[in-house]
Amino acid sequence: MSEECIFCKFIKEGKLEVIYENDSFVSFPDINQKVEGHSLVIPKNHFETTLDMPSTLGAELLDCIKNTSLKLMKENDAKGFNIVNNNFPVAGQVVPHVHFHILPRKKGDSSPICY
Ligand code: AMP
Ligand code: ZN
Repeated sequence: MSEECIFCKFIKEGKLEVIYENDSFVSFPDINQKVEGHSLVIPKNHFETTLDMPSTLGAELLDCIKNTSLKLMKENDAKGFNIVNNNFPVAGQVVPHVHFHILPRKKGDSSPICY
């Protein structure tokens, strides 16, 4: 828990609209929907980037990503999804609590992903 972290604050206050959760991760809708259903998967403990997360959390991370994505595809009638994880400000990370964007995709939608 980091006192000044907004994601830690949401978890502590139980203010998240939970899509899926397990012991170590939780997912919830992104406030700025890049596409319909855009959501975030975050660890319940504070880690700044992917590099700070213990590798032993890998299975639980994948469990949360998979179950969240399946639910979002069903709810939004999407046929696929992107996973985006920005690390450090130079790569576009704004919130310094590691998070994985899940972006449900439909044929013909406008791609929110730039390379
Ligand atoms: P990033 O640029 O990868 O750090 O993404 C941070 C994401 O957090 C952005 O997509 C924001 O829209 C999202 N975000 C910021 N504040 C909130 C909030 N209060 N609730 C939900 N999502 C948020
Ligand atoms: Zn945090």
